[in-house]
Amino acid sequence: MAIHAGWRRDEATGAVAVPIYQTTAFQFDSAEHAANLFALKELGNIYSRIMNPTTDALEKRVAALEGGAAALAVASGQAASALAVQNLTKAGDNIVSSSGLYGGTWNLFANTLKNQGIETRFVDPSDPEAFVRASDERTRCWYAETLPNPKLNVFPIAEVATLGRSLGIPLIMDNTAAPLIVRPFDHGAAVITYSATKYLSGHGTSIAGLIVDGGNFDWEAHGSRQPGLNTPDSSYHGAVWTQAAKPLGPIAYILKARVTLLRDLGPAISPFNSFLVLQGLETLALRMRQHSSSASLVADWLNKRPEVAKVIHPAHMTGRDAERSSRYLPDGKGGLIGFELHGGVGAGSRFINALKLFYHVANIGDARSLAIHPASTTHSQLCAADQLAAGVSPGYVRLSIGLEHPDDLIADLDQALRAAAS
Ligand code: PLP
Repeated sequence: MAIHAGWRRDEATGAVAVPIYQTTAFQFDSAEHAANLFALKELGNIYSRIMNPTTDALEKRVAALEGGAAALAVASGQAASALAVQNLTKAGDNIVSSSGLYGGTWNLFANTLKNQGIETRFVDPSDPEAFVRASDERTRCWYAETLPNPKLNVFPIAEVATLGRSLGIPLIMDNTAAPLIVRPFDHGAAVITYSATKYLSGHGTSIAGLIVDGGNFDWEAHGSRQPGLNTPDSSYHGAVWTQAAKPLGPIAYILKARVTLLRDLGPAISPFNSFLVLQGLETLALRMRQHSSSASLVADWLNKRPEVAKVIHPAHMTGRDAERSSRYLPDGKGGLIGFELHGGVGAGSRFINALKLFYHVANIGDARSLAIHPASTTHSQLCAADQLAAGVSPGYVRLSIGLEHPDDLIADLDQALRAAAS
């Protein structure tokens, strides 16, 4: 599916690779055709802020890969997270989110959405009931990351999704760190978000995001819980999205996001970046296998090193986290590793400075191996207590294991560990 879904050939030219449709607008066939498109009587190209054929192929491919109904590609993972939540909420509403979040998402929820009147209640992701306790009648969705770094404790998707469904609350899963190795819709999630900047692309050239609608949540059955999809929307001549989407499929959620939020806020992905994400997707399955096997090797190796106080990796968990790791990650544990050095901040920065092959960058999911010290970078906007709650201790180092030969990675880590200890 990563190679074939959503595209066979270009109808106009026969091109096999998805062409880059670098055009702003699309000629309508007739006045009636234009009116039908605007009235959503048929779906088709109008303007590249809202849809584009290159982006459409990407959206169809990712929706198919996830087993979802439809997808929306946007300009960044941040835009995907923001739109995914804004699509269900307005001022006065709240969401409940796992506290195990990428720092940028945490900031979006704790500050930017809060300033827009949308409150986020952060809860411990290891306790599914915590989501219920934090919810009230204005809670519109729950949000979590599948494999949140830095703690890398797998989120209990099925347990939380089941509780939410009984209350009419959909679970939105950010699956950025675990594409293909975890399929959140199989466990009951209603919406998936991605920073496609990471593994989906794999080449580290493009910022991109995706939202996938599972088409598996009965919005209509929860009218008072989900007013955004069940009451007339004044921004689209009174459309009620659960009704307007009916002729098009179970896509009320993603249709609303596309024709209201993407239209109004405008975080559109460029067709060129959609093309680049599509190139990455073709090798996603091979890459995830290699990231997972190399990271497991490196984690085992680190675990035996005297300089290392603790290894954080889904294969090195205990108790409930170990059970969840086996349940949700049966075939591969992903490419991320955390570890703590004896020697705290000082050893951490000596280690980072000594690396020769690993890049020191704020990214994950690249073909190249990457390392970062989160306390001083990705999580630096959080206060010390919030950093610790997110699992970022002063001496914590995060690795994103790339596609190089594992022997080369271990050689670089070996010399950097020695330098850190000296
Ligand atoms: N979600 C996760 C889990 C991430 O790691 C990131 C970025 O690091 C984002 C969302 C935001 O994505 P982007 O950088 O593409 O905006």
